Amino acid sequence: MSVFPDILWLEEIRKEDIPAVGGKGASLGEMASIGLPVPPAFVVTAQAFRKFLVETNIEEYINKRLEGLDVEDSEALEQAAIDVKSVVMQTQIPASIREAVSAAYLKMSPSGEVIVAVRSSATAEDLPDASFAGQQETYLNIKGDPALINSVQKCWASLYGGRAIYYRVKQGFEHKIVNIAVVVQTLIPSEKAGVMFTSHPITGESQTTIEGSWGLGEAVVSGSVSPDKYVFDNKGKRITDYLIATKNIEIVPDGEHGTKEVQISPEKREMQVLSEQEISRLAAYGKISEDHYKIPQDMEWGIVGESIYILQSRPITTISSQKDLKTPERRGEGKILVKGRGASPGIASGRVIIVKDVKDTKNLKKGDVLVTKMTNPDMVPAMKKVVAIVTDEGGTTCHAAIVSRELGTPAVVGTINATSVLKDGQIVTVDGEKGLIYEGSIEMERLTPLQVQGSIFPATVPATIITATKVKVNVSMPEAAKKAADTGADGVGLLRIEHLILGLNKTPGWFITNGKEEEFIQELLTGIKTVLDAFPGKSVWVRTLDAPTDEFRNMQGGEDEPIEHNPMLGWRGIRRDLQSPTQFRLQVETFKRLWEAGYEDLGIMFPMVSHPDQFIKAKQLFEEWGVDTTKAVLGVMIEIPSSALLIEDFIKAGIQFASFGTNDLVQYTLAIDRNNENVAKMYEPTHPAVLMLIDHAIQVCREHDVEVSICGQAGSDPKVVKWLVEHGISSVSANIDAVAKIRETVARTEQKIILESARVKNA
Ligand code: PEP
Ligand code: MG
Repeated sequence: MSVFPDILWLEEIRKEDIPAVGGKGASLGEMASIGLPVPPAFVVTAQAFRKFLVETNIEEYINKRLEGLDVEDSEALEQAAIDVKSVVMQTQIPASIREAVSAAYLKMSPSGEVIVAVRSSATAEDLPDASFAGQQETYLNIKGDPALINSVQKCWASLYGGRAIYYRVKQGFEHKIVNIAVVVQTLIPSEKAGVMFTSHPITGESQTTIEGSWGLGEAVVSGSVSPDKYVFDNKGKRITDYLIATKNIEIVPDGEHGTKEVQISPEKREMQVLSEQEISRLAAYGKISEDHYKIPQDMEWGIVGESIYILQSRPITTISSQKDLKTPERRGEGKILVKGRGASPGIASGRVIIVKDVKDTKNLKKGDVLVTKMTNPDMVPAMKKVVAIVTDEGGTTCHAAIVSRELGTPAVVGTINATSVLKDGQIVTVDGEKGLIYEGSIEMERLTPLQVQGSIFPATVPATIITATKVKVNVSMPEAAKKAADTGADGVGLLRIEHLILGLNKTPGWFITNGKEEEFIQELLTGIKTVLDAFPGKSVWVRTLDAPTDEFRNMQGGEDEPIEHNPMLGWRGIRRDLQSPTQFRLQVETFKRLWEAGYEDLGIMFPMVSHPDQFIKAKQLFEEWGVDTTKAVLGVMIEIPSSALLIEDFIKAGIQFASFGTNDLVQYTLAIDRNNENVAKMYEPTHPAVLMLIDHAIQVCREHDVEVSICGQAGSDPKVVKWLVEHGISSVSANIDAVAKIRETVARTEQKIILESARVKNA
């Protein structure tokens, strides 16, 4: 036998020592050597295990028992596993090894009271190319010498579990040469714990994602709790996103039996687990480890009091190799089939259904991926069923993008050719953040269902961030009202009501021609009320109907819609309502009933106004139809350059607020069709001409003390919002998924302004 020691202390171990201490042991030793706060530990080496096999003569038996085993025969596999494991468990450990383990434990725990975690560390485990992680056992909360020895032996036996044998055979590792070491480590009775990815687990981007919850880390690792999630930008050294989850259970140490699950007290359930300082300290440790290993790490951590401990660090196996980090093909499985624009974040896999016509939506089942040229309002019911949406056309402000974001469904738009490249029935994975569609269903290791499907970071935000600039939310579908309200938004800056009607697959004209005016009013009433009820005491700006005629085409009544060369510049918004008094009157009647029912926070916003006369005319009609306009809150959207330029005249005409609809303002200022992929690169919300128009309107509104806001997609972009706050905007309205990060941006920008003005004063 070799003279290699049976025991090695972490301080004696380096990463090259995998043959002796296994992947886990080597990694811990290496981490300790670079200064990471690893809890004290020693390793019962693989040589000690070999010695056990040889000195007790059981090696030969094991080799024979596993030789020629057909691992596909699950009964035979299970029986072999049971036989070998029981031999390992029943064989007495040679005295020299027992004594070495006991002596090491005594050194670590002179009182014999220190509680340890005993983890197997297979020598083929945790290697970058063969992640056997999780196939061998871990025993927590072990106290005293006999329990420790027994756990070490159980770890050894775990090398012969059915799954471990199966994977070894499949990966081409010979049983004879695969060894096992055992890490014995002081158990950290974590008050909070979790995992951390030092780079984005899928794309490799330089951001640390931390998941954490109360108690021991097992709750997070096993997925039995929805943890808080924090994203830390490694370059900007700041938290860019977070989700404070409702954490119902925690895992705590439980005497001799290991651990137990207990309910978390109601006060702690909704509480943020990590402080900003802890997040940045953890990210810093992650950086040390990633820099050292030169490959992104998947780490486990625990915190007791002020002390952070790093419990494990291993390569992220979902990123195939370091040089691939910026090209997100994953482990060879991830062939990219189609690329487009990420329009709604999240990742989901499913069966492709190509929808050429709304009739094809009947083929869609729950869990499918809808692939179409462009979605229309008549497809919304189908969009609610699917796990992801892919379109040929469109930019980030197109119909598909707006609806998907609200539904929390991953979406990629503007692919140009998804409907021809992807095939009906094909299984794909859609990455709605990166705008990529992969072949097959790509396994997302360790991602919780919340992350895999829908937005990674829904916009829950602690109520403590209060900003002077109001942060509101956009809503299109009443079903999203609760989710929108849960963001803590200060109101609704845009409720697009066409979705309330078009979802019924009938045009407003159809209701009128078929004498169903009351039905039309009731549909609007119910939808708007749902949103108002979700935001008690907060202002809700409802926009009058605005849909281009081409969106009506496939609905009942669509045949009566005019065919327009350029619907974006055509019969939509306030211009259509002013020419279609019945359609306008029905909307006004709805609003009147709501105001009369006591919904004082309801404000009405007119879209696509280009001249103050349109506002004056609309207001007159409100009066004619019985609305007391001295009380009603009426405002306009600034979507056409003329309305930005004439803002002073609008104010004189009596608007009480204005809101930038940048989706259109950009297209009308720059002559870029917002849905045309060929010119999408030139669609620039921060174009100097757009910013000049916005700045002018903000300054004039401020002079006259008129609330000025934004509800276009640019209001969900932190860079634009920073600029808007610096230029004095009164409120911003973001998409549901963006409210949290926008609130953070607003808060930071305001604080900076305050600090700078204080510096100027003190200078
Ligand atoms: C806009 O134009 O920015 C806007 C919010 O309206 P829509 O996207 O509905 O045209
Ligand atoms: Mg618009």
